[in-house]
Amino acid sequence: VFHPKGGVLKREMEDYVRQRHIDEGFQYVGTPHISKEGLFHTSGHLPYYKDTMFPPMEFEGSDYYLKAMNCPMHNLIYKSRGRSYRDLPMRLFEFGSVYRYEKSGVIHGLTRVRGFAQDDSHSYVTKEQAADEIKHLLNFVLGLLRDFGLDEFYLELSTRDESKKDKFIGSQEQWDEATKVLEEACLETGLTLVPDPGGAAFYGPKVSVQAKDAIGRTWQLSTIQYDFNQPEGFELEYQASDGSRQRPVMIHSAKFGSIERFIGVLTEHYAGAFPPWLSPVQALGVPVADEFADHLRAVGEALTVAGIRFELDESDDRFPKKIRNASKSKVPFVLIAGAEDQAAGAVSFRYRDGSQKNGVPVA
Ligand code: ZN
Repeated sequence: VFHPKGGVLKREMEDYVRQRHIDEGFQYVGTPHISKEGLFHTSGHLPYYKDTMFPPMEFEGSDYYLKAMNCPMHNLIYKSRGRSYRDLPMRLFEFGSVYRYEKSGVIHGLTRVRGFAQDDSHSYVTKEQAADEIKHLLNFVLGLLRDFGLDEFYLELSTRDESKKDKFIGSQEQWDEATKVLEEACLETGLTLVPDPGGAAFYGPKVSVQAKDAIGRTWQLSTIQYDFNQPEGFELEYQASDGSRQRPVMIHSAKFGSIERFIGVLTEHYAGAFPPWLSPVQALGVPVADEFADHLRAVGEALTVAGIRFELDESDDRFPKKIRNASKSKVPFVLIAGAEDQAAGAVSFRYRDGSQKNGVPVA
């Protein structure tokens, strides 16, 4: 459950991420949480991913499953009408809620949960476009992570376990080609690339971005997967420029993995001192005494109109206690008003580091 302040953080982050996707050529879509089992057979999640899915619900003679991934639903959108090479790359994006059966021993706070939202996208491309699309995605995800204050990365390339080929769909040739395309895109970033044999998803190899936070922990965040299997299972096609029917390649990508987990990572990364654009309360008014509260209230109303999240501390606490509370809550801007400020039509700014700027005109 996200409380109101967590709700602000989540909403700000989602709004930003949604807009960035639209700027990068993605179309925002929405899909249901539950579906008949047939869809997941077509996608290969049944049986390959069954252990990670919640058990089915039987209803009106059919088995329904909660979705563990959004890809099958996006394939339905792709397939809803004929596609031409002119439509590609076609990029679909959503905050897709997924449900995965994690053993009770591994569930942990916000970082490992059984139901979460992925900032998930699927790019449908021709085989020839795949390499460029992967580079596009890599640049995009690294840029997004930097926007959230993370800037120390390395990449991991997960391939299939050669001794357990029955756990993975597809031919040697397909796996080799997909792996090669991913590897080349990774090398172009100049980041360190670490091999992860056996770590691939059942439908194709994967690149993941490993990011180090401010307290030195490394998180697997963004993933980019090259998939030649689901387009086959769903019989996805496009008409090529010569009129022939061709199969697209599908590239899966989650930017933060799970929104819930990423918010947990960010909270610790910033130690609660979020940048102002993410802070649930951006400006907090603290009157030196009650008689100056109205002055700050008027300032707050103007800030609210301007889209700034403002709160006024109207508690019974005395001024020094209010200042201590404000600094503990890590609000980026504390606005103080006393007799001099009020007389001058001004406020005093107090920043997180304790420094203060007095007599700032309200205008
Ligand atoms: Zn997917």
